[in-house]
Amino acid sequence: MAAPILCARDLQFMLYELFDAESLIQRPRYADHSVETFNAAIDTAQSIAEKYFVPIRKKVDEQQPTFDGKNVHMIPEIKVAVDAATQAGFVSSTADFELGGMQLPPIVASAANAYLTAAASTTTGYLALSNANANLIENHGSAEQIETWVKPIRVGRFAGTMAMTEPGAGSGLADLTTTAVPADDGTYRIRGSKIFISGGEHELNENIVHLVLARIKGAPAGVKGISLFIVPKILVNADGSLGERNDVALAGLFHKMGGRGQTSTALSFGENDGAVGYLVGEENRGLTYMFHMMNEARVMVGTGAACLALTGYQYSLDYARERPQGRLPSCKDPSSAPVSIIEHADVRRMLLAQKAYAEGAFALCMFGAQLADDKDTEQTEEARHAAHTLLDFLTPIIKTWPSEYGPKANDLAIQVLGGHGYINEHPVEMFYRDNRLNPIHEGTTGIQSLDLLGRKLPMNNMAGYRAFLALMQATIDEAASGELAPVAERLAAAIVTLETTTEHLLGAMMAKPIDLVMANSVKYLEVFGHVVIAWLWLRQGLVAQQGMVAKPHETDQQFYLGKLQAMKYFFNFELPLIEVWSKNLLDLDATFYEMNNNWF
Ligand SMILES: Cc1cc2nc3c(=O)[nH]c(=O)nc-3n(C[C@H](O)[C@H](O)[C@H](O)COP(=O)(O)OP(=O)(O)OC[C@H]3O[C@@H](n4cnc5c(N)ncnc54)[C@H](O)[C@@H]3O)c2cc1C
Repeated sequence: MAAPILCARDLQFMLYELFDAESLIQRPRYADHSVETFNAAIDTAQSIAEKYFVPIRKKVDEQQPTFDGKNVHMIPEIKVAVDAATQAGFVSSTADFELGGMQLPPIVASAANAYLTAAASTTTGYLALSNANANLIENHGSAEQIETWVKPIRVGRFAGTMAMTEPGAGSGLADLTTTAVPADDGTYRIRGSKIFISGGEHELNENIVHLVLARIKGAPAGVKGISLFIVPKILVNADGSLGERNDVALAGLFHKMGGRGQTSTALSFGENDGAVGYLVGEENRGLTYMFHMMNEARVMVGTGAACLALTGYQYSLDYARERPQGRLPSCKDPSSAPVSIIEHADVRRMLLAQKAYAEGAFALCMFGAQLADDKDTEQTEEARHAAHTLLDFLTPIIKTWPSEYGPKANDLAIQVLGGHGYINEHPVEMFYRDNRLNPIHEGTTGIQSLDLLGRKLPMNNMAGYRAFLALMQATIDEAASGELAPVAERLAAAIVTLETTTEHLLGAMMAKPIDLVMANSVKYLEVFGHVVIAWLWLRQGLVAQQGMVAKPHETDQQFYLGKLQAMKYFFNFELPLIEVWSKNLLDLDATFYEMNNNWF
């Protein structure tokens, strides 16, 4: 039997035991839902993943899309898979019923999408981008724009992209040069080059709606002069039918180490008369609107990384149980049968590390999805505001920790398979290649760390930071009188390290060169990320302990013992690392800062 894509028991644990998704049914937005409808959506995603996504993932990886100068070609199975997921509603799982959506809570949608992403993250990318694009227009576009662009995306007629990056503007979007000139009819003419645009050209849908960042002639320099435009591949007539081809051309396809099913395009806007663009919202507020989608996209990237880590873990676990090799050090009988490699403690070390990274990362992303929901649907304005503040603060960590530790988990999955992990007969090397994008796109790890230390930490009088400390303290208090009190004490000690480090860095920002303080920002993000994941492991441990009492069945007991052991791994082998990282931060280590360009 093939390895499961994900552990269904763990998904149920995360949803209903750790995050109590059942309580969401009390909220008016989800009144038409029940645990049965939540689980039905997850089951549907699982069957689509098993039927359409898993069987094609190897072929998708081996046969990248090609461009013959006129059209893009890709294997037809991708369209079949994308259509199946679209028809089942997975391009609009959280959207309103009136817009053709399933109106699922984001945390439930994340659990369902986890199957599709884990099965074939690259094919699922088309759906995820379209969904994020439609969400942005829904939030910031006009009623007419929603009618013209969002509705066709929700039913799978159109696809969506986000077109920000340019050859000279990647991390530094302030320097983008694509221009927009107002036309007499209220539209704009867009001219410029964009690169790395995912899903920028293909024939999976009738039309592609590009969301393009551009600078209106005369706009202020920097990020304050960037506007957002809808620039369709094909213009749409007043009655909704397709019109002429817009002045948007595919300049070429990029070929990648992973994520090969999704086209990565260089797009040329306005080589002839200028591409017709429609302004979204107000002039010069484009980056603010785009951040709406980017924050959502950042949580999505973290979730994707966690899903690939989870599926790699499942695959290597299954393999380790089946593969006989060697004997234990205590066995001196060469004629005895070799043991399964899972019997070797070092293989269990690698499996346990994967479990701790993957399930820790996924819990963080589910928490992010819960906050994204709470900020809109919690009962009181105060609770909505609190969720918003926390999500805003944690987004760089939700994006980065899974993106950094997801590929580490996949690396360990390869190691568990030995040489068999290095060849493409098994998918673990592909999981690693697919996952390796995640620390790069939607803001690199370096950029996220600058955002955390330089912007999110001091923001609103450190409201997000303080709110998060309070949340962790509540878990420590809950654990203080039980069996996990010693673990809670270790988390409390780690929080002291985090607070000391944070205060030191904030003080240094006032007294020392800012470039020196920021030189170790990635290490600060790592310290913070490890504390966040330790907190989530303590929370999982607490729930597991309650489960041990409430559910005596053997399989439940073993599941909970596994959770407690992964928590132990994280506290014994990972959390102590923050002391070393923190020391460098307290010393304001200048190794990178002082390293001279000419010394390399
Ligand atoms: C497969 C793929 C899909 C993508 N999809 C899209 C898409 O759909 N739409 C889109 O608009 N873009 C997309 N991108 C672009 C992606 O977001 C950028 O590649 C990313 O933002 C980094 O920009 P860059 O490649 O120009 O690298 P650079 O910005 O040149 O960065 C190179 C290195 O320098 C570091 N660096 C840069 N600036 C700083 C700084 N100020 N401080 C510290 N370190 C810094 C970075 O951290 C990185 O390590 C995609 C990229 C890839 C590879």
